[in-house]
Amino acid sequence: MRRDDSVPHMSTRPLLEIRGLDLDFGTPRGRVHALRNVSLDVPAGQVVGIVGESGSGKSTLAYTVMGLLPENADVTAGSILFEGRDLRKMPAPARRSLLGNRLSMIFQDPMTALNPVRTIESQMVDIQHHEQGAWGQKRDRAIDMLHRVGIPDPQSRIGAYPHHFSGGMRQRVCIAMALLVKPTLLVADEPTTALDATLEVQIIRLLKDLQKEIGCSILFVSHHLGAVAELCDRVAVMYAGEVVEQGAVRDIFHNPAHPYTRALLECDPGRIRKKTRTLPTIPGEVPSLLGSKVGCIFRTRCRHASNRCVQVNPVEYRIRVDQVARCHLLGDERLVSA
Ligand code: ATP
Ligand code: SF4
Ligand code: MG
Repeated sequence: MRRDDSVPHMSTRPLLEIRGLDLDFGTPRGRVHALRNVSLDVPAGQVVGIVGESGSGKSTLAYTVMGLLPENADVTAGSILFEGRDLRKMPAPARRSLLGNRLSMIFQDPMTALNPVRTIESQMVDIQHHEQGAWGQKRDRAIDMLHRVGIPDPQSRIGAYPHHFSGGMRQRVCIAMALLVKPTLLVADEPTTALDATLEVQIIRLLKDLQKEIGCSILFVSHHLGAVAELCDRVAVMYAGEVVEQGAVRDIFHNPAHPYTRALLECDPGRIRKKTRTLPTIPGEVPSLLGSKVGCIFRTRCRHASNRCVQVNPVEYRIRVDQVARCHLLGDERLVSA
């Protein structure tokens, strides 16, 4: 079934609706097409994962939503509707005022968000600048949040500097800061990738509990499929700048339709029961993102590729009520079974 916009995707309007987003980076070698025709919804109160190999555009998408792109980035088409308003058309001051308020972010490296020469207390009080209340009240809120993310003795630890904390504890502080403002949408770019496995599990559980408590939505970027399965309601699979498949986590993980999703899941260390945390590897290489592309972006690595895949870029087909994928085989009703 071809995707039809008359089919209701959600009963209520999603919190974040990304439609037809194209983004290039200007480089001395030419324009890198890092996002191509990306469409994605984040429903209110849900956690949406973004997975895909290195260089697929996951961080670029996350930073585009936050409006934190480098100067050589150029959004050439599409819209990003947040609570029904197009972030691309919003005046810069209005957009900035959303940051650290209704929109907040957790980075892979906690030091990106923390100022090394200021105490945690002053940073956690400052981040509440949108809130009413005296310094003492904001400090109490910060201590309470540090307690909830599992920082021992937060009453005295709040006076410490970032370098006094271990990497895992720093990431907890960042989660506390990001959630202190009670955002409507939290964007997390690989928040657990730098941590060891035990810490990762703890942080994922913590995020899940806090998300439920606050009721926010999360856009969660990760290489780790296990973490996505644990935390997310929905997942989008990205390949070379395109979302090739998306839907409910249980559908994508149990019945993947796109050959790339299948390959990614087959290579997942969590599934092959091998003691390794190395990234999944699929034979072949991600194509260069320079220049225009004809045909399916995955064709050079796909064992089902045909002439049609070389000549025509597949449209998005609906596989189930809540699962869509871009592959010619799905349009032929010949669901990929090999
Ligand atoms: P990873 O899993 O390694 O974090 P990713 O999926 O987050 O990868 P991005 O960082 O979004 O991928 O990069 C997408 C593509 O855009 C890559 O080809 C990358 O080299 C390119 N890219 C990212 N930032 C820039 C930039 N500032 N200038 C030029 N190219 C860039
Ligand atoms: Fe493979 Fe063709 Fe489907 Fe692309 S469209 S994933 S090349 S079968
Ligand atoms: Mg990244």
